Amino acid sequence: MEDIIIIGAGVSSIFFAHKLVKENNDLSIRIIDKGKPLMDRYCGLDEGLPCTCGEDCRKYIGYAGLGKSEGKFNYTNDFGGELGRKIGEEKTLKLMKEVDNTLYTFGAHKVGLYSTKNNLLAEKAENHGLEVLSTEVRHLGTQIAVDVFQGLYDKLKKHVCFTFETNITSVKPKAQSFVIETNMGTFRSKKLIVGTGKSGGKWLEKQMHNLGLQTGETRLDLGLRMEMKEDQLDPILQETFETKLRYHGQGYEATTYCMNPRGRIIRKHQNGLVMPDGQNKNEEETDSGNLNFTLFIPRYFASYNKAMEIAQYVIGGINQSNGRIIIQRLGDLYYNRPSSELSANTIMPSLYAEPGNLVGEIPDLYIRAVKEFLGKLQGLIGKPIHPDTLVYGMDAKFYEPQINTTKDFETEIRGLFLIGDCSGVTHSLSQAAASGIYVADRILKRELGP
Ligand SMILES: Cc1cc2nc3c(=O)[nH]c(=O)nc-3n(C[C@H](O)[C@H](O)[C@H](O)COP(=O)(O)OP(=O)(O)OC[C@H]3O[C@@H](n4cnc5c(N)ncnc54)[C@H](O)[C@@H]3O)c2cc1C
Repeated sequence: MEDIIIIGAGVSSIFFAHKLVKENNDLSIRIIDKGKPLMDRYCGLDEGLPCTCGEDCRKYIGYAGLGKSEGKFNYTNDFGGELGRKIGEEKTLKLMKEVDNTLYTFGAHKVGLYSTKNNLLAEKAENHGLEVLSTEVRHLGTQIAVDVFQGLYDKLKKHVCFTFETNITSVKPKAQSFVIETNMGTFRSKKLIVGTGKSGGKWLEKQMHNLGLQTGETRLDLGLRMEMKEDQLDPILQETFETKLRYHGQGYEATTYCMNPRGRIIRKHQNGLVMPDGQNKNEEETDSGNLNFTLFIPRYFASYNKAMEIAQYVIGGINQSNGRIIIQRLGDLYYNRPSSELSANTIMPSLYAEPGNLVGEIPDLYIRAVKEFLGKLQGLIGKPIHPDTLVYGMDAKFYEPQINTTKDFETEIRGLFLIGDCSGVTHSLSQAAASGIYVADRILKRELGP
């Protein structure tokens, strides 16, 4: 019997385990993951080739979870989840500091910490009906992110037993402990921590159902990705290196996400859907000469299945089973006419997509939001947004359903905790990591302390 079993070897679990190991070396800890160790997580998509991973793409599954990404750690309560609301904003910022210290120790010192805060810009934006969201950032980039998480693995494996490529078939509470049945045998633990992120969504829903735990409301963000001239937003980007803007429209709230000056647009494959995604200029040798970002609108649905049904309907409809993404000139979108040839466009698309008309293919709300947001943005930058700006449909961000947990992230079953994105509370690297540290601390103090 182990003291603690953690299901999922992603960001939240790693920070959870690291905190436990740092504070108490005597605990027996096992981490079970369905994916591979970090160094074996190769997918053709990494090199622009087709994905051949099968059902579970190695880009998302395996040690470090979605930490094997651009590794942009935003230290803020303004976005990235509701951890601040659950455990207190000050506490959350303190935990994020601890996250950053750990990253720093394992190699993140190679990139600087910077702030996007700019009071002058915030004031100007407010005068034009926009809100500026600011944060401290440590942007690792994929290579440093991989090195940092590998360094953490090398340390953890001295104290933690890792079991990879394991399918967990059932989780059952039994006499104040847990029995975990897998294709690699049966494991038992006194406490069970689940950190299966978004990739474990379906699996978790099934387990929660079997355990009699209710899953509830689910958030889904849909939005259009825009690609504009690199210097289009200079009036604001000269003030800050990057910016995140929010517009409160009639019955919706739209927020810019993943702004990439001189970056490219790439294909993102998730939940069987193909979407336009942004890639930072540091990830590619070539400079696109463009700037891109998505304007996301969050919506809440009664269940996870309902949210997925809507995503399938909207994005699956665009994809037409062959990965189709639509691209439209902003000027055409304004006049509700399809775009055709783009070879004469002054802004060259950095991703091949099919020219068409978004009107009629996506809900009107997202088109209205783009028009209203860009109207405000024009006011802020003091010049029109170029009609050759490109609009790609359609990007999505998926969230886990809310599951009832206490302030300590414990479910209605004593000893069973949810950390990171699968708790429905966090949606970002920093908040997922912070939730892991928080729960480890609570368990050490409350449960295993004297
Ligand atoms: C493409 C992409 C890029 C992103 N980039 C950023 C970014 O730059 N900055 C940012 O703040 N946020 C980013 N995010 C969000 C961020 O990565 C997540 O919020 C964060 O990784 C969540 O951590 P987690 O521990 O909850 O889950 P994850 O890191 O996803 O880890 C989940 C783990 O659970 C394992 N698992 C899943 N199901 C099972 C199962 N049934 N049994 C066993 N193991 C299982 C997986 O293999 C994985 O190791 C990105 C998300 C995506 C999709």
